[in-house]
This record gives sequence, structure tokens and C-alpha cells, in this order.
Amino acid sequence: MLEIDRILGEAEKLDLLASGKFFAYIYETGDEKLREIAMKALQKFYNKNMLDFTVYKSAVFFEKELLSFCKKLLHGENTYGTFTYGGTESIMLAVLAARNHFWKKKGKEVPEILAPYTVHPSFAKSAHYFGIEIKYFDVDGKLKADVESLKELISERTALIAISAPNWSFGTVDPVKEVAEVAMDKGILLHVDACLGGFILPFFEKLGEKVEPFDFRIEGVTSISADLHKYGYAPKGASIVLFRSAELKKESMFVDVQNPGYVFVNPAVLSSRSVGPLASAFAVVKYLGEEGYLRLSKQVLEARNTLLQGLSS
Ligand SMILES: *Cc1c(COP(=O)(O)O)cnc(C)c1O
Repeated sequence: MLEIDRILGEAEKLDLLASGKFFAYIYETGDEKLREIAMKALQKFYNKNMLDFTVYKSAVFFEKELLSFCKKLLHGENTYGTFTYGGTESIMLAVLAARNHFWKKKGKEVPEILAPYTVHPSFAKSAHYFGIEIKYFDVDGKLKADVESLKELISERTALIAISAPNWSFGTVDPVKEVAEVAMDKGILLHVDACLGGFILPFFEKLGEKVEPFDFRIEGVTSISADLHKYGYAPKGASIVLFRSAELKKESMFVDVQNPGYVFVNPAVLSSRSVGPLASAFAVVKYLGEEGYLRLSKQVLEARNTLLQGLSS
């Protein structure tokens, strides 16, 4: 046995539990074929770089195909998207776009994000990175964003309202329609964080579960994040963010054509990125298709019902 094999084996034992034995972190299907396809794509493309899409055209192809699936799923056929390495990065891009949009409209004041305190910490992280303030409002008795508390916080400095479908802490879906009405009335951007729900709520709906619309069907929603590396069942390093308008997506990008080294066009936070996770996410979506996601979502629903029954008895 090579020394490195021994060390890798030892390192593997440091992790607390095997995949599939947690309620979080890893989203396991138990499907060997899926694992095989995901790993094949990851390996084949790991040493290709998304940095330069004029050279690595496979990245353009995968991203276009993947986004087209996501746009359809979230009823945003005419939206503009970016593949990212995770939910936090998707949210950072949405927050950055909102900040730059706000600056263009209102000048360089410190903008504010308003969110129920149940939102993911990546909004606070984005505020920390981009010089924004985040103000939290309350949730109602059902642990959903309280619209009256939101209204009290809205000011001239509000650049973005952020809510979840669902939030991580409690799994509750905020009242997207009611919040969207407030946002539109005040001309404020609205991000729906569907990192957790983006690849499962649409299938719950198709399975006949009662799911309140949370996606681009709601007019005031201006951006959505959804994680492929959660209920999309892709390996880690895969998420998307969709923007209602091309203008907003542009505000999330960084471009430098002056540098003598190379033309620098970055749609995401990182510059050099392996194509592997993108190729792998594409392969998983292609393999599962709508039918596969419906089957897995049904399994999740059944597991939930079993747990609920057990708890109530
Ligand atoms: C997982 C998650 C995120 C982002 O997390 P990453 O670890 O960056 O992928 C954001 N919002 C919600 C609700 C989440 O569940």
C-alpha cells in the first residue's frame, strides 16, 4: 500500500458519519449509477478552467444547458443566470447586484438589506463583504416573515429585501406574494433564497402538495438562488442565481479589459474555477431529468410523513 493511500484512509476516518447518515451537509440518493456519472463528469473536466470561456467552450455549453433547465423549473424562461460554486456565492452576487443597482439610482449611500432573522447567514456575510447594513425583522407565529414588521423597517436606504423558500432554520416558506407586493409598491428589489427549496418545492407542487408560488411567477421577485448541491443532488460546488433582468445580472459581474495580461470577464466571485462541478451538475440533471427528481422528491415526502407520524405518536 502506498503511503498516500494509508494517509487518505486515515483522513477519511476523521469524518463523523458516512454520507447518507446525516440530516444535512450531504444530499444522498443511494443511487450508485448517479454517483458514477457524477464522478465521471467531475474527473473528465476537473482540469479545465472556467476562467476563459473562449478556450473552454464546454463550460459555456454546460452552463447554458443547466440554466435552461433551472429557468424552466423556476418559471423564469426570460431570466439571466450564473452558475456558481455554492449558495453563498449565488447570494453574494444577488446582494452585489442590488448594491450596485442602488448606488446607480441613489448615489453612494450605505444601502440596507431587510430580511427576517431566519435568513441564511450568507446575507450577513455579503453585507460584511460589500459594505452594506443588514436589518432583521420578525417572523409571525408560524415562523414566516412578518410583513408588518418588514414595512416598519423600509426606508430610503433599503436596497434589497431577502426572504427564503424555505429557510434553513425552520423549513418555513416566507409569504413571497405578500412581500413582493410591498417590494413592488416601494420599488425595492426582492431576492428569494431557494437554495434549499429550488430543486424540491417545484417537484412537491407537481406531486400535488400545497406549495405557495415562490418563483418568477410572482411579479416582484427580482432574483432567486437555488443550490444544485442540495436537492439537485449534484456534488458540492454547484449552485445558480437567476436575475429578472439583464441589467441586474450585469451589476453582479466584474469586467476589466485594460489589464495587459488578459481580458478579465468574471460573472462569479472566483476567477479560475474548475469546470468539474459544473459538468457534474449538468450530468446529474441530465441523468435524473424531471422524472428522476419527482421520484426522489416523493421519497423525501414519504420520509417526512413517516417522521411526523412517529413524532406525533
Ligand atoms: C445551504 C443554504 C444556503 C447557502 O449555503 P452554501 O453552503 O453556501 O451552499 C443559503 N440559504 C439557504 C436557505 C440554505 O439552506
